[in-house]
Amino acid sequence: MLETLRRIVQEVNSAEDLPSALTVMVQRIKESMGTEVCSIYLLEHKSNQYYLMATQGLKQSAVGQTRLGYAEGLVGHVGLREEPINLENAPSHPKFLHLPETGEDEFSAFLGVPIIHHRKNLGVLVVQQSSCRRFDQDEEAFLVTMSAQLAAVVAHAEATGAIDGTLFGQPTGSARFEGISGAAGIGIGRAYVVYPPANLKSVPDRTITDIKKELRLLNKAIKAVRQDMARLKIKASKQLPPEEQALFEVYERMLDDNALAGEIRAKVSEGQWAQGALRYVVQTHIRTFEAMDDPYLRARASDVKDLGLRVLSFLQEAKSCVSNIPPNAIVVGEDITPTVFVDMDRGNIAGIVSLQGSSNSHMSIVARSLGIPTVVGAAEFPLSRMEGRDLVVDGYRGEVVVSPSPEIRKHYKSVMEDERELSKELDGMAELAAETPDGHQMVLHVNTGLMADVTLSLERGAEGVGLYRTEIPFMVRDRFPSEMEQMEIYRQQLEAFHPKPVTMRTLDVGGDKALPYFPIIEENPFLGWRGIRVTLDHPEIFLQQVRAMLWASESLDNLKIMLPMVSSVTEVEDAMHLIHRAYLEVLEEGAHLEMPKIGVMIEVPAAVYQVKEFCQQVDFISVGSNDLTQYLLAVDRNNRRVANLYQGFHPAVLRALQDIVSQAKEVGTPVSICGEMAGDPRSAVLLMAMGYETLSMSASSLLRVKWVLRKISYERSKEMLGEIWKMDNAAVIQSHLDYVLEKEGLGGFIRPMHTGSHS
Ligand code: PEP
Ligand code: MG
Repeated sequence: MLETLRRIVQEVNSAEDLPSALTVMVQRIKESMGTEVCSIYLLEHKSNQYYLMATQGLKQSAVGQTRLGYAEGLVGHVGLREEPINLENAPSHPKFLHLPETGEDEFSAFLGVPIIHHRKNLGVLVVQQSSCRRFDQDEEAFLVTMSAQLAAVVAHAEATGAIDGTLFGQPTGSARFEGISGAAGIGIGRAYVVYPPANLKSVPDRTITDIKKELRLLNKAIKAVRQDMARLKIKASKQLPPEEQALFEVYERMLDDNALAGEIRAKVSEGQWAQGALRYVVQTHIRTFEAMDDPYLRARASDVKDLGLRVLSFLQEAKSCVSNIPPNAIVVGEDITPTVFVDMDRGNIAGIVSLQGSSNSHMSIVARSLGIPTVVGAAEFPLSRMEGRDLVVDGYRGEVVVSPSPEIRKHYKSVMEDERELSKELDGMAELAAETPDGHQMVLHVNTGLMADVTLSLERGAEGVGLYRTEIPFMVRDRFPSEMEQMEIYRQQLEAFHPKPVTMRTLDVGGDKALPYFPIIEENPFLGWRGIRVTLDHPEIFLQQVRAMLWASESLDNLKIMLPMVSSVTEVEDAMHLIHRAYLEVLEEGAHLEMPKIGVMIEVPAAVYQVKEFCQQVDFISVGSNDLTQYLLAVDRNNRRVANLYQGFHPAVLRALQDIVSQAKEVGTPVSICGEMAGDPRSAVLLMAMGYETLSMSASSLLRVKWVLRKISYERSKEMLGEIWKMDNAAVIQSHLDYVLEKEGLGGFIRPMHTGSHS
């Protein structure tokens, strides 16, 4: 059974388009279950009607013609009940609807299973038989499994098909794709697809005009792969038995003009670029092989794929893909990492769309600090068909609009205009203190990582750096920076803000922050070797970093050092020991400096319960609410499937935040918060009420937060906090805060700007 499922799923997933996927599905299900009919009805959400989209066993002429209302017939009944319906004699059921055009009257047994994706009803999968019998448990389980697989395929195709109107034959012009807001702002421009090297699936279609040039590139790549194969063949002749060696001959033949190479050339001659042509041809062959019954021939699919990847990697080497992006580019890709766009010309990036990621992934954090409108987690975004399309990135709502109509474009342009007006108003804020109307002083710091953050932070009147993420300069290199290199980078930060304090966090790699030259492969990276755990295991890296920080601060004395991911007192002791050692070393080497203040981050639930113990060891604490939220709620901060459960306003998170500040205050240790919550004006108000005096956020949030704090009195903020303690869920707390602040006339500042809806 499992093997049958696997084969069907593979075939369906590799189908070129949805109609072929559905046809394959009904054929295979009918065969494997030995039924007389298998049909798929999909729900068209605009008209709220089911369409018969594919069938084996009913009349083909009914496909695309037969429609049922949302609650009509047995199909509608299955959709409404959201559970399988298994009937011995369907025509006798009160919900049975006579549909003569399908010829289904002769069938008695009926089993219908809803197709549901993320709680949304997409359609119904039906099998029927003429004999009067109930389908058994196994058959039901099989169909439920198939339907769950089908759901993902349909959801993807629905989203994709919406662009061209291919699904229900109704062109819709522009299309809107949902994701999550990564960084606020509106970006209007053209899609520029980036893709990881040697990944065929994510190569986009791209039309070219200089066909000769493209053919030259292709020929060069094919020649290089052939040479590679010849070399491997010689090598293999010494190591492998003759049958295995034959594989290399097969490879060579596959690259012949009358095989793959010829087909790819033909596709290029039609105006497709070499990589796109390669993807098309190779994937078609893979599909053919995979559909074969003979296991030997099926295995050839992986040979073709291997060969395709080899040609692709040669083609990609010939192309300097990311640095020369055109102006007004919306950079889109499967999983855009900070390294990808940090390398690009910032002035040309109008926006970013990433299929992976969430608002708290590091790529969003970097995008926010660079002020690039970004949508992440746009899983249904049809990447391969996007190159060159007009896009609007709505970083407020976390949406992308493809081919916007003139009205939609006009609307977004006016939002951009409003935004400019607003930021003019905020500009005057930079010089003013973060003081409430009743005289309560707050300190607003910034989170930095790139030099680009520095200018913006200073322009916006930051009073210091609450979190300098040292791993960011580590991430954009191809090896660990030397002590001297680190010293220079740190010195720039310290000098730029001097005499204001700069809190440098020691290297926090692991989790979602990989260094290309120091890979950490783990099943559960967020629960693994991360932050302080890595650096304590590598004292040479830790000592070098601390020494670089200390040297950098000589004669400036505005350095503070902070330890990430601490979960026990011994970790703090061990780290303190190393820091003192580094301090003594640099003093001995002739440096003149004060011992900097040392702090720990509270970002692991265990640390919440040991705040007082930590306070005995260190000078300050700082809450990393991004990780604290993820660990308290057991919700991966990067997983878009559970992104809706990642809630900063969750009562449990708020209580933990209150506990931390109360404990620290009892023992008189300064406490700040440097997670993204500090940069949301709504949570900033609550944090102030809880007793936090220093909030550290990305520079782009600073003026907005200051504006709101200057309007809300400290007393009022405490009342608001009192109100929310009575509430038991995040959504209610969030809307209550929205409501209160909106009533105070702060609507435009507290929340993503209202961009309206055109769906
Ligand atoms: C945090 O976890 O809140 C934090 C500030 O650190 P990072 O986002 O770099 O993990
Ligand atoms: Mg963290």
